[in-house]
Amino acid sequence: MSIDFLQAAAPGVRRLAPYEPGKSAEVVERELGIRESIKLASNENPLGPSALARQAAVEALDELGRYPDGGAFALKQALAARFQVAQNQLTIGAGSSDLLRLVVQSFVTPGAEVIVSQYAFAMYAIYACAVDAELRVVPAQNWGHDLPAMAEAVSPATRVLFIANPNNPTGTWVGHQALVDLLDRVPRHVIVVLDEAYAEYVSVADYPDGIALTREYPNLVVTRTFSKAYGLAALRIGYSISHPQVADLMNRIREPFNGNSVALSAALAALGDAQHIERSRQANAAGMAQVAQALEAMQLQSIPSIGNFLAIETPSQAAPYYEALLRRGVIVRPLGGYGMPRHLRVTVGTADENSRFIEALRAVCAQIR
Ligand SMILES: *Cc1c(COP(=O)(O)O)cnc(C)c1O
Repeated sequence: MSIDFLQAAAPGVRRLAPYEPGKSAEVVERELGIRESIKLASNENPLGPSALARQAAVEALDELGRYPDGGAFALKQALAARFQVAQNQLTIGAGSSDLLRLVVQSFVTPGAEVIVSQYAFAMYAIYACAVDAELRVVPAQNWGHDLPAMAEAVSPATRVLFIANPNNPTGTWVGHQALVDLLDRVPRHVIVVLDEAYAEYVSVADYPDGIALTREYPNLVVTRTFSKAYGLAALRIGYSISHPQVADLMNRIREPFNGNSVALSAALAALGDAQHIERSRQANAAGMAQVAQALEAMQLQSIPSIGNFLAIETPSQAAPYYEALLRRGVIVRPLGGYGMPRHLRVTVGTADENSRFIEALRAVCAQIR
């Protein structure tokens, strides 16, 4: 007799649909029999990592036979100095996704409530669902988080509230005062996660200083990553800054060596290379302007974004545009899974990649219309 593993699975896991990552160039080229495709589907830094980070990663290869420093002392010391926080406020994650999961596992029991915004980054709902939480999805306003409505949705059963700033896939953000107003309203037993995966790219004036706010709001957890502006997506390394007691809880269930030694070394070096971040920021601003200008010329709408990506509204259903772009070797991200069937998310690439994307999109628009 065979076992029905679906029936045997935890209820929350059973209900989950698998996360669909952006397609890699390798996969697309194999599937479509094409060459020289470009991937603008996962919000990676087109410049890649700092040369110093790469060098540090290479040097770390000499110690592959040893377990990494499970306490991540050197990286924590550098992060603590950079952000003027205590080392016991830091938790290291295998990417910031790991930290999002650690928060949920630390605070959410089956039936407890987790609040997210409509169109929010998909991993929040996946982790909440996996532990059989009640997900409260608060309708978006102009594609962005409606913070007053999210605060209103808090109930005695609420344990965690997620805010992505900026949000992926929309690129929308919340300003300082709106965030403070929410934090003032939310009871202290509710953990507010402020996901700042793109913080290094942001230049808007009223962008909240989430890390500074952790001093006033002990229930605030800020998550950051080395996957995006730092260009280290493959290594899986991120960190959170929180109240020490929250960090202690997250560290209790953390896989002891979740920050691997290559990643720890590279992240430390990356953190020290301010020039590379500045170059990346400037390249992104120029690329964003390049893409935005082209979209305007094509009379295509997009959602204003402060990240390194843009959600573009297609003239009709986005799926055929996505497929046609793929056949031209340009990989973007369809957003049907997010309930945005008329949008495509494109990552700002190098100037050449952006030009290729724009040309391909122009051709596809002419073809489909
Ligand atoms: C990419 C992303 C992350 C996490 O990526 P990691 O590689 O796991 O650090 C988290 N939040 C948002 C909003 C993202 O776009």
